[in-house]
Amino acid sequence: MVSEKRLLELLKDLIRIRSVNPDLVPGGNGEEEIARFIGTYMESMGLSVRYQEVAPGRLNAIGVLKGIDGGRSLMLNGHIDTVGVEGMSIDPLDPVLRDDRVYGRGSFDMKGGVAAMIEAVNAVVDSGISLKGDVVVACVCDEEYASMGTEAVAREYVTDAAIVTEPTACRVCVAHKGFAWVKVEVTGKAAHGSLPSEGVDAIVGAGKFLSRLDLYARETLAAKEHPLLGSPSVHASLIEGGSNLSTYPSRCIVQLERRTVPGESKETVEKEMEIIIQAVREKDPKFQASADVFFTRPPFEVPVEEPVVRAVSEAVGETLGREAEYIGSHPWLDSAILSGAGIPTVIFGPDGYGAHGAVEYVDFPSVVDTARVLFSAISRFAG
Ligand SMILES: [Zn+2]
Repeated sequence: MVSEKRLLELLKDLIRIRSVNPDLVPGGNGEEEIARFIGTYMESMGLSVRYQEVAPGRLNAIGVLKGIDGGRSLMLNGHIDTVGVEGMSIDPLDPVLRDDRVYGRGSFDMKGGVAAMIEAVNAVVDSGISLKGDVVVACVCDEEYASMGTEAVAREYVTDAAIVTEPTACRVCVAHKGFAWVKVEVTGKAAHGSLPSEGVDAIVGAGKFLSRLDLYARETLAAKEHPLLGSPSVHASLIEGGSNLSTYPSRCIVQLERRTVPGESKETVEKEMEIIIQAVREKDPKFQASADVFFTRPPFEVPVEEPVVRAVSEAVGETLGREAEYIGSHPWLDSAILSGAGIPTVIFGPDGYGAHGAVEYVDFPSVVDTARVLFSAISRFAG
């Protein structure tokens, strides 16, 4: 049985330990202290524990509950880093329970989910059930920046399925968007401002590119529709160009972010940038530009028939007495890395408010529900 009291204590202990991602916030303390705390806690539960140090002071704590006869193995995955604590209007590291909410930095994103998955396994151990397959509890670093933690886990632990316990308000998340970062360089020709016949204005060229991109977003992207994620999108993020007031600018660089839906990839984004550049060039033969898709994270989708999705859905029905609700989520999550490593993955976690915000809390009853659903899903999948 899931113990509410033990779960609340664990959640509060996790919030009290600062674990700010140092790549996101210079001077952040990293995950070493919290990983060691969790490792010791999982050892006391009887799990075999290992630390993966993926960079100095950046640790994953991984606990394994061994199955008895090589049945289906299941990973529970949650990140233990948080964003910064500056500018919060609550005490970020002093967890308070008020009106069923536990306040503090990381309570919602995502120490609530981490506490729930550890308590679920604790309840399995308590119950004396022998599972057939292994349960791997992966508490990972660096999700808020570059996901080094889950990448290291996925290299060494290829389980038969995974559940990421990011917050979903106890709904079953089966898809999320990906993204691509693109650098577009428009090349003009520098000339004295008094010589219009010689100069080619790269900034005006970038303007033409952007208005064509806007048209493409409104007409082509808006017409695409993923049933759970809606339309893909694109926005301009950064722009630079020009040297001084009396010179035609020879170069303008625009950086964009393109949010992708399943079926889109680095290649499809490259192709679409080429189409937009071509369309501008057809109207303006002097227009010259190139696009570099320099960083991508793939979108994610898992079929609802996948056994791990079924296990979670049935666990929701049994534990919460209602049908599972399937949703898509907009931000990118570590689930795409696990899925890319060939591990069927689903996302299920608690409810709350204020990820990265000035006030952050997790709804405690939903943390308890998450732990109970995970307990049931573990027995169904690895039992
Ligand atoms: Zn998160």
